[in-house]
Amino acid sequence: MTQLTIALSKGRIFEETLPLLAAAGIVPNENPESSRKLIIGTNHDNIQLVIVRASDVPTYVQYGAADFGIAGKDVLIEHGGEGLYQPLDLNIAKCRMMVAVCKGFDYAAASVAGSRLRVATKYPNIAAEHFAKKGVHVDIIKLYGSMELAPLVGLSDAIVDLVSTGGTLKANGLEAVEHIVNISSRLVVNKAALKTKYDVLAPILTAFSEAVVA
Ligand code: ATP
Ligand code: MG
Repeated sequence: MTQLTIALSKGRIFEETLPLLAAAGIVPNENPESSRKLIIGTNHDNIQLVIVRASDVPTYVQYGAADFGIAGKDVLIEHGGEGLYQPLDLNIAKCRMMVAVCKGFDYAAASVAGSRLRVATKYPNIAAEHFAKKGVHVDIIKLYGSMELAPLVGLSDAIVDLVSTGGTLKANGLEAVEHIVNISSRLVVNKAALKTKYDVLAPILTAFSEAVVA
């Protein structure tokens, strides 16, 4: 039987993917939140899940170590999408990529064309492209988390980060000042697997798309 490997990350993507998997008749044998296992079996002998860091999902799928996976658009834009077929927006893990600064910072004045800004972010490609379009020169400072801290301690003038409720920004005296792009998670499929494993993949993709519409 054709073996199928699905790459997922723990947390909100796993939680919000469970109903989609269920719609395709796939039920994991264990919960990755409580299990330490990185490979989790399912109710199908030929289907397994691999639990990876959210930003690593495109890489596993690109190289065919996983046949398909679910990744945020933020992660996909940064990755570039090489080797990936992206047939479906799953409409889960929704948030916005925004520019945020310390409350009271005159962002409008600081971001006119020709000015120079220090921007801390986990998303250097998205940030660079955004400010290039505005004609603002940026020094990008790559961080891996807790971006909200950077403007507070003078590491940067602004941050580029994901915002959902804005609660974390508010709690740290920051405010969102510019919307960059709406984010949700997408299905990503290995381009070769789509052809060689079409018979097993197609019904799952169909079930996912029907569950998303419903
Ligand atoms: P970690 O938080 O452990 O550093 P991560 O940030 O890569 O890892 P998550 O926070 O679980 O992982 O985010 C996974 C994906 O969920 C992101 O790539 C993004 O698409 C989406 N996401 C992130 N933050 C939010 C949010 N506040 N609301 C909705 N979706 C979000
Ligand atoms: Mg996170």
